[in-house]
Amino acid sequence: MIKSPELLRLERKVVRCTLCPRLVRWRREAARVKTARFAHEEYWGKPVLAFGDPGARLLVVGLAPAAHGGNRTGRMFTGDRSGDWLYRALHRFGFASRPESKGRDDGMKLADCFITAAARCAPPLNKPDAREFANCRPYLLAELRLLARVSVVVGLGKLAFDAAFDALKETGRAAVAKRPAFGHGKEYRLSPEIVLIGSYHPSQQNTFTGRLTEPMFDAIFRRVRTLLQ
Ligand code: SF4
Repeated sequence: MIKSPELLRLERKVVRCTLCPRLVRWRREAARVKTARFAHEEYWGKPVLAFGDPGARLLVVGLAPAAHGGNRTGRMFTGDRSGDWLYRALHRFGFASRPESKGRDDGMKLADCFITAAARCAPPLNKPDAREFANCRPYLLAELRLLARVSVVVGLGKLAFDAAFDALKETGRAAVAKRPAFGHGKEYRLSPEIVLIGSYHPSQQNTFTGRLTEPMFDAIFRRVRTLLQ
């Protein structure tokens, strides 16, 4: 499905956003200093736009871009280890055209899937603060209002899961008042139309320690596929 004029307008607004001074400094500094293995690359260094099929039924919500991942390539979960895990799983279950996501020009297409984040600028220590989440929240709300077909939402990590629930509630798509407990594979039907699923984030902290394994991550998207059938 092609992007609506409203979605394009939202993208233009997001990419110019400077509401969080700490994150603006951090994302620009990471783009200026770079890291040794990407020293030859031109970094994106701006808010990272959501990516995918505007007609998607699956919405994946991450936390925030990585300084040398999304902040470098300019695409959600692209160019870092977390992205390797996410796109491999999405490809396995038919949501991504390729198992690897290297850069904005790699030809990747998502089918029935849209990837966004609770915050769109790379934060220090991979953690936005409460004010920064609040600043970025209207963009998630706007996306949810524009993505009318979404019926399954996967929150990667507790913070993204909570942000997704709060946004679903605020947009009237969750009939459940109390925020449900996060857990890997925990699934909640929030209304006749919407299911929210929690997943551990595929961060290196989780994947290197074995807290999240590939079979565990695959199980999330296998379940999504079943729900969508
Ligand atoms: S995190 Fe969101 S609100 Fe903050 S500067 Fe980036 S795009 Fe703007």
